Amino acid sequence: MYNKTKKYEVAKRYRERNAQHLREYKKRWHKENSERIIAKVKLWNEEHPEQTRKTKRRWIEENPEKNKESQRRWLTLYPEKRKDVSRQSGQKRRALLKDVFVEDVDPRIVFERDKGTCQICKCPVEDDFHIDHIIPVSKGGEHSYVNVQLAHPSCNLKKHAKMPERLECPIA
Ligand SMILES: [Zn+2]
Repeated sequence: MYNKTKKYEVAKRYRERNAQHLREYKKRWHKENSERIIAKVKLWNEEHPEQTRKTKRRWIEENPEKNKESQRRWLTLYPEKRKDVSRQSGQKRRALLKDVFVEDVDPRIVFERDKGTCQICKCPVEDDFHIDHIIPVSKGGEHSYVNVQLAHPSCNLKKHAKMPERLECPIA
């Protein structure tokens, strides 16, 4: 006779015995498929903006500690964005923080996705690069893969200084 509980036990024991291996496998799979995963999530999010917002809010409500931790990490990773947020105060500041933070953005994934090319001037970047928010955080742009792009530090700064649309390649 088929025993569901027993089957569950077997699966559980297998997972426990192979926890390390499974974790590494999952990590490797995510790394190898990061571009595909991001593209898929991005597409889905674009097609379901209302649901994306709801899911995000529910996640924040259910994981207040994790969310705070992520925000802290985000602010240390992007000190220039901290200025955008700290320029505001009180209610507006809290709203800004809550609204802009969508997900953890791994700079290495952005680098790979954008194929090491500055998305502002379309030239390759070197070791030093910025993760630019396409719509600035101060203008309500979200901290998410959809709203970030790889950029030369100089191009990023010029963009925010409202320089002309087309920028010269800094290393050409
Ligand atoms: Zn550039």
